Amino acid sequence: MIKLNRPNCPNQTELDTMKNGVSAEWSSISQPLKTSLKNALKEACCGKCMYCESMVSHTYFGDVEHIKPKDKFPNLKFDWDNLGFVCAKCNNAKSNKYDGDTPHINPYTEEPNDEIIFAGPMIFSKNGSERGKITILDIDLARVELFEKRKTRLEQIDKAIGQCNGYENSRLKADAIEELKKEASEDKEYSLCIKYLLKSHKIIE
Ligand SMILES: [Zn+2]
Repeated sequence: MIKLNRPNCPNQTELDTMKNGVSAEWSSISQPLKTSLKNALKEACCGKCMYCESMVSHTYFGDVEHIKPKDKFPNLKFDWDNLGFVCAKCNNAKSNKYDGDTPHINPYTEEPNDEIIFAGPMIFSKNGSERGKITILDIDLARVELFEKRKTRLEQIDKAIGQCNGYENSRLKADAIEELKKEASEDKEYSLCIKYLLKSHKIIE
């Protein structure tokens, strides 16, 4: 999970109309409106799930997530600031879980790295953060499938680091370092976990 910037709402007027409607249900939202909201959110997180950083596949278009569940916060059902973009697995795991005393990390309003850390492909709460723990637990961010995907990415990058370290030519080495830095950019899958690996090799600060 990384810090995200919330894009401007592409259909604020229509969303407000839904909000002010009498007993409007989320399911009654028109498909074009939903698609437009989803596209704006998806683009802002480079096509990745807001929670697990998996690239949402082309075969599965992803979901609009209600950060505060719509059945517990009906007044936020059509609130742009309460919407995000998620993969099916995180969406299913989170379901309508929400603890007002220990809210899940909201990557649109805070820095997730203040609450969670990585050790290799493993995710942990930072300094015993209870919000980090609850987020990992409720959204199942330590699930085996994610662990395996992160592990594969880290192994690929580890190999590239080995190659980089082997260069004697300074230009080849500098180019390889620049390429490695790109692996931790926001559009790459599992970028926070990769950052930890690159930091440990002093490739980034
Ligand atoms: Zn996800």
